[in-house]
Amino acid sequence: MAAKIINGKALSDIVRARAAARAQALAETFRAPSLAVILVGDDPASRVYVNNKKKACAACGITSLEYLLPADTTQDEVLELIAKLNADAGVDGILCQLPLPAQIDKRAVINAILPDKDVDGFTPYNVGRMLSDEDGFLPCTPAGVIELLKFGGVEICGKHCVVIGRSRIVGKPAAVLMLRENATVTVCHSRTTDLASHPKTADIMIAAVGIPNFVTADMVKSGAAVIDVGIHRGADGRLCGDVDFAAVSEVAGAITPVPGGVGPMTIAMLMQNTVRAAEIHKK
Ligand code: NAP
Repeated sequence: MAAKIINGKALSDIVRARAAARAQALAETFRAPSLAVILVGDDPASRVYVNNKKKACAACGITSLEYLLPADTTQDEVLELIAKLNADAGVDGILCQLPLPAQIDKRAVINAILPDKDVDGFTPYNVGRMLSDEDGFLPCTPAGVIELLKFGGVEICGKHCVVIGRSRIVGKPAAVLMLRENATVTVCHSRTTDLASHPKTADIMIAAVGIPNFVTADMVKSGAAVIDVGIHRGADGRLCGDVDFAAVSEVAGAITPVPGGVGPMTIAMLMQNTVRAAEIHKK
């Protein structure tokens, strides 16, 4: 039986339309929300991500401010720019596109962003609030994963969720957010022994491992919901995820495609966070 496809593009259109309506209300009563994006260097994939964010901002009525810095920019220069943006009352959100060149410590850069402008939800302050079940900016990709599961009608409460990957920006926060939704959570990583045995018991699997087609059909429980966070471009130019989509969709009950799954939701959640930052700044 073929799995139900959870359509991230359709959900992202809904989330973006809601963000656009709120941005319009802000433009009428305050000013348009604004997002500052810093890109250091000329990594082609990062350039594509930054352009996509810029297009999404334009479509939602969010002013986007782009700071394209050369690859040899020093850490102090990036920190100076962040200090300037932190102090600018016209800037609601600040994000620094990762990865950063080797001479720049990404933690120092992320930690310098004011928590109320941290629309990526990466600062220790917002991570702490997430862990404490308090309001704050949630990281966009894992927050989008939760929205996708709900949109797909997947029951989370009481279910066993296996997250493959424990990165600071995807795997770990995804596990925390699934706990918040009352799932029972197992997190697998590169040191997990007998890795294949864990996903097989999952009602919900979140694959954020960064290896193309890592999750094969034999790793998936019949009827499970599978969320594929991975994104890879093959030699033929086609995109694929961490999940072998064709084979796994024969076993799973629901699955997100790549492209058209988690990717569009990440940007939609960023738009939502930016509008929320502007609403906070209005107050
Ligand atoms: P990452 O920082 O490289 O983390 C990968 C995680 O997978 C690590 O925790 C690593 O374990 C684990 N891992 C690696 N090899 C493994 C193996 N053989 N067995 C078990 N676990 C293994 O990657 P990330 O930033 O989380 O991103 C993951 C994927 O999502 C990438 O494809 C990335 O491009 C994609 N992504 C997509 C979006 C989107 O919007 N769609 C956003 C962010 C990321 P250790 O911790 O032990 O090293």
